[in-house]
Amino acid sequence: MADKFTVRDFFNRFPDDDSCLHHVMEVRFGARHVCQSCDQEATFHKLANRKAYACSRCGDNLYPCAGTIFQDSRTSLQLWFYAIYLFVITRHGVSGKELQRTLGVTYKTAWRIAKQIRTLMGEVDGFEKLRGHVEIDEAYIGGYIKGGQGGRGKTIAVGVKERGGRMIAGVAEDTTTNTLRGIVHQTIEPGSTVSTDELPAYNLLTSDGYQHGTVKHGAKQYVRYDDTTDALHHVNNVETFWGLFKKSIASTHIHVSPKYMGLYLREFTFRSNHREKQNAMFDLLIGAV
Ligand SMILES: [Zn+2]
Repeated sequence: MADKFTVRDFFNRFPDDDSCLHHVMEVRFGARHVCQSCDQEATFHKLANRKAYACSRCGDNLYPCAGTIFQDSRTSLQLWFYAIYLFVITRHGVSGKELQRTLGVTYKTAWRIAKQIRTLMGEVDGFEKLRGHVEIDEAYIGGYIKGGQGGRGKTIAVGVKERGGRMIAGVAEDTTTNTLRGIVHQTIEPGSTVSTDELPAYNLLTSDGYQHGTVKHGAKQYVRYDDTTDALHHVNNVETFWGLFKKSIASTHIHVSPKYMGLYLREFTFRSNHREKQNAMFDLLIGAV
């Protein structure tokens, strides 16, 4: 059962700016900690009308939001928290327009907030390599040019998913051997089983030390059991991700420029990697501000 984080939960936890600031303080420093100024373990109390706490021993002021995405923002902390909450609970993403309307800020502010939250989502997951049985699949996203080769005018994205584990996705320059091989080396632990489609660019994976198996999408083969390695080859988990991603981009975001595609991909992989735990997702993001 997914760990739901309802709107009611949100406002119970964060009824005002002070409760949000208190949370940032606890997550980043702890309510009681060694003071940076007097070097003694101390408690800290909130200063009236300022986004600061004072050390109970030396009185030094500590600004919990210093160095975070909240630091110089004129948007209130509670609005920031609520925006992060919206990004956590959505399935299809949050558009700039929706954020503008819900938060009552300008479109420019909404766009900036969204960009910073997406960046945060991209940073939290880290870059640990995938292992075990891993699927790779490419997708062609967006673009206005009709006809010609399937990929014209579209952004090429590559998704890599560990079965029962994490997903990583990013933009690729092209689908040449060089590019795709590089992505595999960067994201998958050697020795892992790797399932791909029949794209020739993947042909070198076996000599690179992976247990490589393919399915021939061109021949409508979507699953293949390899009895010598006891591996069920398919890329259905990545394809499910592409299905949701394409639908969401089309319905929520209308058009995403190639420049920002990577950012959107990381937003969606972050949610996919943590989707069972909305509360934990929220705390991870606040912890990373
Ligand atoms: Zn102190």
